Amino acid sequence: RESRAMKFQRQHMDPDGPNNNSNYCNQMMRRRHMTEGWCKPVNTFVHEPLVDVQAVCLQGNITCKNGQPNCHKSNSSMNITDCHETSGSKYPNCDYQTSQKERHIIVACEGNPYVPVHFDASV
Ligand code: ADP
Repeated sequence: RESRAMKFQRQHMDPDGPNNNSNYCNQMMRRRHMTEGWCKPVNTFVHEPLVDVQAVCLQGNITCKNGQPNCHKSNSSMNITDCHETSGSKYPNCDYQTSQKERHIIVACEGNPYVPVHFDASV
């Protein structure tokens, strides 16, 4: 069964991307299995090396959106792509708007080793 850490990598890691195209989210949301059973409405991909994203778990500790204390904000801004489902999107034809950004990321971390398991926000 897929671990939470592996699920984070599947949903949020794309170190070699983005491929600089407006279809990025449509392709990646499907390829990473976030359009099966429903269209996941919002999702962020991070275009930085995995070790750099894992290191965020050792950076500034903050409260998560859900009130849990296990969130961490990256010291540096990172290259990310936000995917937002469009108003016209209808499952199974999931349609997304692609926006590239440079932001500090906030992730929730868990376990031993203490690694990212949830993408909370970008700021
Ligand atoms: P994401 O939130 O990264 O888009 P999911 O919702 O699929 O992805 O999975 C998030 C996972 O992270 C869940 O297993 C959830 O229990 C776990 N988790 C751990 N800490 C938190 C937190 N502070 N806030 C939200 N989810 C968390």
